[in-house]
Amino acid sequence: MSFTLNDLPLRDDLRGQAPYGAPQLDVPVVLNTNENPYAPSPELAEAMSDAVAGTALGLNRYPDRDAVRLREGLAAYLGHGLTGAQVWAANGSNEVLQQILQAFGGPGRTAMGFEPSYSMHPVITRGTNTSWVSVPREADFRVGVDTALAAIAEHRPSVVFLTSPNNPTGTAIDLADVRRIADAAPGVVVVDEAYAEFRRADTPSALTLLPEYPRLIVSRTMSKAFALAGARVGYLAAHPAVVDALQLVRLPYHLSAVTQAVASTALEYAGELLAAVDDLRAERDGLVAWLRDHGFSVAESDANFIMFGEFEDRTRVWEAMLERQVLIREVGPPGWLRVTVGTPAETAAFREALLTATGR
Ligand code: PMP
Repeated sequence: MSFTLNDLPLRDDLRGQAPYGAPQLDVPVVLNTNENPYAPSPELAEAMSDAVAGTALGLNRYPDRDAVRLREGLAAYLGHGLTGAQVWAANGSNEVLQQILQAFGGPGRTAMGFEPSYSMHPVITRGTNTSWVSVPREADFRVGVDTALAAIAEHRPSVVFLTSPNNPTGTAIDLADVRRIADAAPGVVVVDEAYAEFRRADTPSALTLLPEYPRLIVSRTMSKAFALAGARVGYLAAHPAVVDALQLVRLPYHLSAVTQAVASTALEYAGELLAAVDDLRAERDGLVAWLRDHGFSVAESDANFIMFGEFEDRTRVWEAMLERQVLIREVGPPGWLRVTVGTPAETAAFREALLTATGR
């Protein structure tokens, strides 16, 4: 007799739902989850090992519950006059977002996003028993501010998500648009800036708006620019009152001493890590130009990935790429695919596979 999920007393709203699941396949060229292709340098790896070894001797004790040193380090890295009291860290920005929903969402409340966007926003929203309202983006993948204001007036969301640069499209949002939305939103506005370090030189960060908007939250991650996806460290900057709110829902000692030590060490290497980000930005711009030269449509990208199309049968193209050992992502509006910017060698493999896969 087989016992399945359906036989469990699962919450009704979770029945029939699918878990998050980007394929984790063992192929030579992995360009599907927007990871940083550059592993930590041997020096940084050694410094992290030393930090972990130092921590290991004290692992009988719980970690610093408030991760004070790490938060101060993150505040110094962000600049803008921020202090540790305005920064909060957790296991990946996904956990940060979940804590935001736990504190500001919940039954009877609504969160709103502008899709296509990061697929975990509605999943985390649902997991916290919050209703989800999806507002479509414009044809050029920008947030239509008039549409946004109308949706905000109608649904009065407790949480508004603005992803900038947006995943999967790569599109950034103008600060004037963030202002208009933040002026109208009755709850908190979360600008998910997971890819902020990859933005082009003239694209600003919403961090500059924090002093004016106490209900604005900017979330960031060490998974991308800091090449630390495996360590699981995300963080936010906001008014200290927002941090007080998140302390009400966070689990005690949620961020392990090992994680805190690794993250604080990586921050000390920000210089070399951000130099690699510059290389990736140049690689991205080169790949955007190449794709356009070869007749593909390309969404403007301020991120470490590119959405391109348009294909009559994108699944076929995705599969043909995989046959050529290049894993990209079938995500976004129908007809489009997303590729993460990799090393020059990976980009070369991608270009070659794409030309064969599409017969161009
Ligand atoms: N926000 C966005 C827009 C993302 O694309 C991702 C990861 N793909 C995250 C947040 C979460 O990243 P992490 O939990 O690794 O910080």
